[in-house]
Amino acid sequence: RKGCVVITGASSGLGLATAKALAETGKWHVIMACRDFLKAERAAKSAGMPKENYTIMHLDLASLDSVKQFVDNFRRSGNPLDVLVCNAAVYQPTAKEPSFTAEGFELSVGTNHLGHFLLSRLLIDDLKQSDYPSKRLIIVGSITGNTNTLAGNVPPKANLGDLRGLARGLDGLNSSAMIDGGDFDGAKAYKDSKVCNMLTMQEFHRRYHEETGITFASLYPGCIATTGLFREHIPLFRLLFPPFQKFITKGFVSEAESGKRLAQVVSDPSLTKSGVYWSWNKNSSSFENQLSEEASDVEKARKVWEVSEKLVGLA
Ligand code: NDP
Repeated sequence: RKGCVVITGASSGLGLATAKALAETGKWHVIMACRDFLKAERAAKSAGMPKENYTIMHLDLASLDSVKQFVDNFRRSGNPLDVLVCNAAVYQPTAKEPSFTAEGFELSVGTNHLGHFLLSRLLIDDLKQSDYPSKRLIIVGSITGNTNTLAGNVPPKANLGDLRGLARGLDGLNSSAMIDGGDFDGAKAYKDSKVCNMLTMQEFHRRYHEETGITFASLYPGCIATTGLFREHIPLFRLLFPPFQKFITKGFVSEAESGKRLAQVVSDPSLTKSGVYWSWNKNSSSFENQLSEEASDVEKARKVWEVSEKLVGLA
């Protein structure tokens, strides 16, 4: 049978390119889990995805109710869950003030981390039940986790501190909207959320890999400087960022190439190792990358897991 993969945020950028790469093989049915149905439908059509190989289902990660609703709808659809890809993200580098999810969590951490945390915790049971030979849970990371690169060291750097803001609910009312309890900074909030993504992947690996055989992985797909992720950045940045990445840092990858990379992590028989953070070298071959000290901190991963469980109502 075909594999069934759920990809969040498949309406643009990396998620769409991955959905297309997998749907075109004819070996995958892609569930595009998106907040904007019409946008996703148009995107799938204009990408030329064969329509028998995808289904769009509504998911707004900025609402925990919507996450639960998605899980119910998915179960009712009768599809097995073979691979889950947590890809969607928001990035608000120019925001002066925080904005918030339906439950009142700062939007970047609320969407990128907490929404995906609840989704993957609920869907782990469905992954367990699948009879697919190589079941995987993939959480897209970022270069923020690499200390061995220039881009991983550009300020403001990620720093979760002692998680005091997260523990107090990240609501900006009674507490800070930042995980470390500091002043709001949209770029840092995004980077913090990606560190949470990478810590969560590793904590999943420690808690579930041996018992379930599921492969847990994260990745840095390269700098896809043309995606919607940068939509809120100032126009001059959006103009200069792609050529800067192409010609100066040489870290630029096209959306199509990044999609092939993530599709590899979904389906390549040689990428079954669990607990790994994949990256690609200049020749586009994959390698196991090292994570920064914070993004591989075992104690912090456990704390992020436990505090997040409380916030999303699992504990
Ligand atoms: P895009 O903005 O193109 O894609 C992000 C996707 O997330 C969109 O489909 C968007 O939906 C969706 N999304 C945002 N908020 C929600 C929500 N509340 N509920 C459901 N879906 C939502 O960015 P990219 O493709 O660049 O980003 C994809 C992933 O790649 C992210 O995890 C990002 O951190 C990571 N990444 C990107 C890099 C880059 O250089 N671009 C580098 C490293 C990592 P909609 O279409 O409706 O807006």
